[in-house]
Amino acid sequence: MGNNDLQQLRQKVDEINSQLLHLLNERGRVVQEIGQIKKLQGTKRFDPIREREVLDMVAEQNEGPFETSTLQHIFKGIFKASLELQEDDNRKALLVSRKKKKENTIVDVKGELIGNGTQSFIMGPCAVESLEQVRLVAEAMKEQGIKLMRGGAFKPRTSPYDFQGLGVEGLQILRQVADEYDLAVISEILNPIDVELALDYVDVIQIGARNMQNFDLLKAVGRVKKPVLLKRGLAATIDEFIHAAEYIIAQGNDQIILCERGIRTYEKATRNTLDISAVPILKKETHLPVVVDVTHSTGRKDLLLPTAKAALAIGADAVMAEVHPDPAVALSDSAQQMDIPQFHEFMEELKSFKNKLQ
Ligand code: PEP
Ligand code: MN
Repeated sequence: MGNNDLQQLRQKVDEINSQLLHLLNERGRVVQEIGQIKKLQGTKRFDPIREREVLDMVAEQNEGPFETSTLQHIFKGIFKASLELQEDDNRKALLVSRKKKKENTIVDVKGELIGNGTQSFIMGPCAVESLEQVRLVAEAMKEQGIKLMRGGAFKPRTSPYDFQGLGVEGLQILRQVADEYDLAVISEILNPIDVELALDYVDVIQIGARNMQNFDLLKAVGRVKKPVLLKRGLAATIDEFIHAAEYIIAQGNDQIILCERGIRTYEKATRNTLDISAVPILKKETHLPVVVDVTHSTGRKDLLLPTAKAALAIGADAVMAEVHPDPAVALSDSAQQMDIPQFHEFMEELKSFKNKLQ
C-alpha cells in the first residue's frame, strides 16, 4: 500500500516537473521576444524595477509551504537565466559572428587572399626610417615571394620622447617602394582624421593594440572601403576583441583581419604572452581571418620561428614578423627585429615546415 502511494506521488511530481519544464521554456520564449523589442527600442535588457515587482508579487501571493525568501531566490535564478538567454541572442546577432555568417570572410589585398585557407606572411620593418631601409627589406621579401609589407609611419610609442615615425613621408616611402616591387602596404593609423589621407597610400589600415578600443577610430575605418588589420589590445579579452571588430563591421566595412599579438600577463620571459589558443577560438567564433604577430607577442628573436610554426599549425591565416636591414640601429624594436639573413633563414625553415603540414 505504502509503496503504491509513493509511486503515485512520484508520478505526480514527475508530471509537475514536466509542466515546470514546459512553463520555463515558454517563459524563455516570451523573454526572447521581449529582448527583441528592447533591442529595437534600444532599451536596456536588465530592468531592476520589473524584477522588484515580480519579487514583491512572490511575497504577496506565496501560500507556502516554501519560504518567501526561498522562492525569491529561485525566481532570481530564473531572471538571471532569462537575461543570459537575451545576451546569447545578441551574440548570435553580432555581424562578425560565425553564427551570422558561416563562410570565411576572404580579404583581398591587391590579389593576395587572406582567409581562403592558404597561409600568408606579412613582413617588414617596425618603423619606416628611410627609402633605402624599406627598399632593402622589400627586395628580400620579393626574393621570398612575399607580397604583404608592413611598416609603421605613425608609431604609437610608450614614451613621447621616442621616435614617433615619419608620418606622411613614411607613407609615401612605403607606397613608392611597394609600387617598385609590386607589394601591398600595411600601415598603422593612429588618428581618425588621418584615415582619409591613408587611403591614397596603404592597402590595409592597421589599428594598433593601443587603439583597439579607440571607438572613434574603429568607426572611422568602418566607414571606408579599405581592409583593416585590427590588433588585439594589450590586455583585451577575446570578447572585447570581437566587439572591437564589431564596431568596424557595424559601419559597413567587413574587410577585417584580426591579429593576435600577445597580451599582458604576469609572465616576464616574453614581452607579452602569445595567446595561441585565441586563433582557433577567433576562427570558431567569427568568420574573419586571423593573423599571429610573432614579433610583438614574444619580443624575442629566438622565439620567432617556434611561435610562427605554432601559428601555422594551429590554423592562422598569416604570420606577421618584423625585418630590418640593420636591427642594431633601428629606431624602434631594435632587439626583436630580424636582419635580412635571419629573415631568409626564418622563411626557409617556415616554408619547409608549412610544406610538411600540408
Ligand atoms: C606594430 O605592429 O607596429 C605595433 C606597434 O604593434 P602593436 O600595436 O601590436 O603593439
Ligand atoms: Mn614593432
